[in-house]
Amino acid sequence: MKPVLAILLFASLFFIQCSKDTTTPQTKDNTTTQKKDSTVTQTKESQTKMTPVQALQMLKDGNSRFVAGKELDRNLMQQVKQTSKGQYPYAVVLSCIDSRASSELIFDQGMGDIFNARIAGNIVDEDALGGMEFSCKVMGAKLIVVLGHTSCGAIKGACDKVELGNLTSLLKKIEPVVASVKSEGDRSSKNDVFVEEVSKENVMYGMKEIKERSAVLKEMIDKGEIIMVGGMYDVETGKVIFYEK
Ligand SMILES: [Zn+2]
Repeated sequence: MKPVLAILLFASLFFIQCSKDTTTPQTKDNTTTQKKDSTVTQTKESQTKMTPVQALQMLKDGNSRFVAGKELDRNLMQQVKQTSKGQYPYAVVLSCIDSRASSELIFDQGMGDIFNARIAGNIVDEDALGGMEFSCKVMGAKLIVVLGHTSCGAIKGACDKVELGNLTSLLKKIEPVVASVKSEGDRSSKNDVFVEEVSKENVMYGMKEIKERSAVLKEMIDKGEIIMVGGMYDVETGKVIFYEK
């Protein structure tokens, strides 16, 4: 009996050890895949079905979640895998380089949701237009947002006619906007009200420029294939106000 017991004991110990060995990696995997993922990664089908108005609503909802501190719990690495073979974003946002105004963050978006075109003062130049044409005409985005933000350094620089290296020519592109704002009193960066007026006008000017300088995008807007809206991000509240026609 004793040898039999010994064999049984050995066998059960061996089994326990093997079980441990096989479950250890699984547990690790489970920890990664079990991370709550309440998002939907965009696919060709979801992008095709989405209307421009729905795309705008997605950004409005995302900003509301951001302001409420209720961002979706994303598994970004899972989205990296899901988008590795292709991307189907529904919007392109032209915004400033300001470190406080990242489109993915303020609209609570994940991998593959939006194209994010950033340039100081969210100015519309030829290259930005090329990027937006790619986003909409080639890649199927349904919405263009020209997004300014409060307390913008580029706008302030344009108000003050700052000159510095390559920044000079960039700010010169905003100066016509500054001149177009008819406001009495202090027209420098010290006047917050004036700066915000110029920022809003700069967004309107950007939208006008897009229509005038891109036949591709104008045609898509005219046909109702895409919509274009302006927006202003408030760096104090986290809220985006949209300018819709
Ligand atoms: Zn800025």
